[in-house]
Amino acid sequence: MQTTLAKSVAFSGVGLHSGAPVEMHVHPAPAGHGIVFRRTDVTGVNPRVPALWDKVPNATLCTLIENEDGVQVSTIEHLMAALVGAGIHNALIELNAGEVPILDGSSAPFVAAFCEAGLRQLAGELRAIRILKPVEVRNGAAVARLEPAASLEIDFRIDFTDAAIGKQSKRLKMANGAFVRELMDSRTFCRLADVDAMQEHGLALGGTFENAVVVDGDKVLSPGGLRHADEPVRHKMLDALGDLALAGAPILGRYRGNRAGHAMTNNLLRALFERPDAWCWETCSPAQAYSLPGAGVCRAEVMVSA
Ligand SMILES: [Zn+2]
Repeated sequence: MQTTLAKSVAFSGVGLHSGAPVEMHVHPAPAGHGIVFRRTDVTGVNPRVPALWDKVPNATLCTLIENEDGVQVSTIEHLMAALVGAGIHNALIELNAGEVPILDGSSAPFVAAFCEAGLRQLAGELRAIRILKPVEVRNGAAVARLEPAASLEIDFRIDFTDAAIGKQSKRLKMANGAFVRELMDSRTFCRLADVDAMQEHGLALGGTFENAVVVDGDKVLSPGGLRHADEPVRHKMLDALGDLALAGAPILGRYRGNRAGHAMTNNLLRALFERPDAWCWETCSPAQAYSLPGAGVCRAEVMVSA
């Protein structure tokens, strides 16, 4: 069955790229609602932006969605990953600025708050997207691919010249709380060499050594170092989970990313939905629902009676 939060949860912080202060409330929503953002600071136009793949006009350093009135919400990926990872299918997210708060640069603070609020089961069947045939997008050496598998798996490779990152790869079946145990606390990262260029372009203005792992050659500049030796590839898997959530339903299949980023994962979803033979809807049986990323987490503890 579909779920939502048992009660509203509030967050406040700054946007990673805008540096703008933002108050955000994640509210319960009914079955079939999906994940929808609503800008409370916008008047005279439609303030609602559904978190769906075809609402992404541009995804480079973060994932940004935009409605038909040009109303935008950016850097949604870590929050989207937290919703999937906590098993939340429906939510209305109100915020008074155009960018989701970055908090510590990971999904962990979102998941912790969702688990504390608890989940509520809704009277609505859960449908998933079953991958039937491989679909792939390429850009030079970068590849993103979806292929058939019993349940969601993520397989990711990165290769950076900075020795502090280097080559990293990791593969995970996303069932049984793998996201919460292995990925959710991995933070966004960047190279010191890129910080000036990003800030000249009005990006990363809210970035600090506390909300992003900054590397320079073989050095990790953020105090306390890395949370995991392979924190960068884990964060790329977190990003992929959040970006795949824009499919609008859980995916039953294997995602492979090689140096892929937000734009490639969005292009992969576009390629998938252009190929009706490559996927089908599937009503989740209880066994399948148990293999979804949000199942088997802290659900027994967080589920409250409807
Ligand atoms: Zn990220």
